[in-house]
Formats: sequence, structure tokens, C-alpha cells
Amino acid sequence: MTPTFSRTRTRFAPSPTGFIHLGNIRSALYPWAFARATGGDFILRIEDTDLDRSTQASVDVIIEGMAWLGLDHDEGPFYQMQRMDRYKAVLADLIAAGHVYPCYMSMAELDALRERQMANKEKPRYDGTWRPADGKTLPAIPEGVKPVLRFKNPIGGVVAWDDKVKGRIEISNDELDDLVIARPDGTPTYNFCVVVDDIDMQITHVIRGDDHVNNTPRQINIFKALGKEPPIYAHLPTVLNEQGEKMSKRNGAKAVTAYRDEGYLPDAMVNYLARLGWSHGDDEIFSRAQFLEWFNLDHLGRSAAQFDEAKLKWVNAQHLKAMDDAALAQHVLPFLSQLGVVPDARLAGICGLFKDRCDTLVVLAKWISAFYLDLVPNAEEKAQHVTDAVKPALAALADKLASCVWDKASIAAAIKETLTETGLKMPHLAMPVRVLVMGTAQTPSLDAVLALSEREKIMRQLKNA
Ligand code: GLU
Repeated sequence: MTPTFSRTRTRFAPSPTGFIHLGNIRSALYPWAFARATGGDFILRIEDTDLDRSTQASVDVIIEGMAWLGLDHDEGPFYQMQRMDRYKAVLADLIAAGHVYPCYMSMAELDALRERQMANKEKPRYDGTWRPADGKTLPAIPEGVKPVLRFKNPIGGVVAWDDKVKGRIEISNDELDDLVIARPDGTPTYNFCVVVDDIDMQITHVIRGDDHVNNTPRQINIFKALGKEPPIYAHLPTVLNEQGEKMSKRNGAKAVTAYRDEGYLPDAMVNYLARLGWSHGDDEIFSRAQFLEWFNLDHLGRSAAQFDEAKLKWVNAQHLKAMDDAALAQHVLPFLSQLGVVPDARLAGICGLFKDRCDTLVVLAKWISAFYLDLVPNAEEKAQHVTDAVKPALAALADKLASCVWDKASIAAAIKETLTETGLKMPHLAMPVRVLVMGTAQTPSLDAVLALSEREKIMRQLKNA
């Protein structure tokens, strides 16, 4: 049965253990996009119950990474550790309704049971020793042992759902043993907390990594025991790294924020991640607005997607190129300040001149810095281009530039006159000038570069010949 709901509510529920990487954040992007595309709500929930592994630093990267990518949430962040009283209250309801029983089986007994089952080539599972049933006599309660609480999984029948990615999934209840839902100290366990949260937060669509697909039938059974309809599920296939292994911090995956620091644009990253597991025909490059217009759960990919840094760079380059100069100038500011550059009104124009030859903001900032800092020309290129033969022409050009009107047309005229006077060809003059003023011979057209430069600086740099 398809659940009915009047407003879409999705969530991202990361565990703050280790730094969130691109594979993880894709599980935030899709539920966010689905909420935005359908005019619903997106909720952030931090699943921090693993006290040994959860860290504040990891929470910070989640929040910063999402803010950078513009994945804004409508509610939260909710922290599971702050909801313990709520879980305990719901647990009490479940106990009162007879869905839970205490189990006193010790670790040693559980180990022995598992070994027996393995020896018999059976799947290891709890055997229901302590599950009460009509006419069944339970073992004597051992003294001084605090029990765990187990959930009475239904016996017989199947748990089924129509996964938006994987299609229909049916799991026989006989495959599922009675899950521990509270530890001996009374603290509730993971799957139970997730269900209580998804109910309380009125989640309509759970979009998450398929490493959770085995939890889903258990969670659905808990939903039913609590008298609630489960949400719609979409389990996203894994993201593989460039070596074809599951992306993980252990395999060298970088924190999401590292891409911000390496000069990727948030919209480019959203575009790249969107395509890593979802498609809209053959469209490769799209804006955030287009993505939200197109996104739905019907075109999620079924097979694992592989991260490709070169492709990401290419996508970033396309977004840099397409971006409005003034907006780009804003994005590049932090990178300029790292280089000690204090830009001025020329910045947007410089961005416009260089944006089509950059694949990251770091590269763009490097170009821009040449307009603001006195740079040392690349020695090899200087030796190659700034030859004794060309030095008189450089002096002649410097003379003209010292007094001409400082705009592109006049600068172009000064260059042209110098060429006529000296009989040099354009590249023979332009290459050494570029090396001296920009540090390298590969730049956009010289008159445009010079027009955006400061005359005094150009004079200084040409004297370096
Ligand atoms: N906390 C889980 C994780 O980080 C996600 C749980 C869920 O989405 O249901 O993998």
C-alpha cells in the first residue's frame, strides 16, 4: 500500500563518526532536492548514539559541508542523544502493548548458539529461547543478570516494500530474528531510535544509502508494531572511489569541505553529485534551479556510481565559465585573501577574462594575483622569450605605454606601433611581455590583460627585462 501524505518530508540522518565525504553527502543532496522539488520539508538529524565514535568535529564538517553546498534544512539539527527520554517513553508503550520481552541469554550462550548453528550450516540467529508463547515454559531467570529487551518480530509472512530505486523487495519474517531494541542499561538501540524519529518527524520518504537496506524490514516491523505506516524508501547504490572500492575515509576519501578549500563551486559540486546516481536524459551540466525542476525519485540509478575527479574538475570548469563575473568575484575572494591579495574594482573584469581557462577557484585566484602582486617570472620562460634581441622593442613599448591612454584600444595601438617600428611579429613581442607581466607566456590577449593591469606595475615589470 502506498502511504498517503499531504506534504513531503525527507531527512538526512548522518552519524557523526569520521568526516563526511562525497559519498555520504549525496545521501543529503537527494532528500534535500526531493523536498525542495516538491515544496516539502527537509530535516537534519544527527545520529550520535555511538558515543565512542561520534565527535563534534565531525558534526561541524556535516553542518559546514551542507551550508557550503546550500543544502539548507527546515528543521533540526536534532540530536538523537537529546531524544533518549522520548525513545524510552515509546519503548514503554511498546512493552505495554506486548511487543517486547526480556532476554537473559548471556554473551557466552549466544556465542555457543552461533557456533552450533554455523556447525549445522544454519544462518546464525537468535533462537527465541526467552520469547514468551502460550503454553511455553521459559527458563529460570538467572540471578543478578540484567536482560536486554527484544522485539517480537512477527512469525511467518513477509515484509515487503516498493523501493524507489531497487523495486519490490520482499523479506520473509523467518529470516529476521528478534532484534535487541534496548540494552541491559535500558538504552534503546539504533533501529528503534530511527523508527521513533522517522515517526515523530513525520518523514514521508526515507532516501538513504543501500548499506541500510537490511535494516529496513526490521524497521518496517517496528513501524507496524507502533501502529504506523512506514514511509516510502529509496536505497541509493554505493559511491565507489576511483579505484572501484566503496568510498570511505579509510580509502582516502576527502572530507566534503576539502573540495570547498580546493576551489570547487557549490553549484558545480551539486551538479556533479546529482549526476552520480541520477540522470535527466543526457544532461551533464545544469544549474541548481534546473536540477530542482527536474529531480524526482523515478530516475535514480540502480548501479554503483564511480567518483571521477577529472570529471568533477571538468564540471567545475563549465560552471566557472558560465558564471556571471561579479558572482565569480565573490566566490574567489577567500582564495585571494589567502594569497594576500586585496582586490579592487577591476576584480570582476579580471574574472571575466580568465574564467574560461580555470578549472578551480584556486587556479583563478592565482591568475588574479598576478594583477595585484609583484611576481617573479618563470625563469625558463623568461630565458626563452625575453632575449637580448627583443629588449629594445620592450623598451620602446614601455615608452609608449608610459604615456598612452590606459584602455584596451590605446594599448593595442601602442603594441601595433611597436611592431611596425621594430619589424617584429606579434608573438615575438607579446610572449616576453606576458612572461614579464603575468609570469607566463600563456595568457589571454595582451591588450586585454594590460588594460586590466595598473600602469605603474606594468612599467615596473617591463623594467625586469
Ligand atoms: N545514520 C545512518 C548513517 O549515517 C543513516 C541512517 C538512515 O538514514 O536511516 O549511515
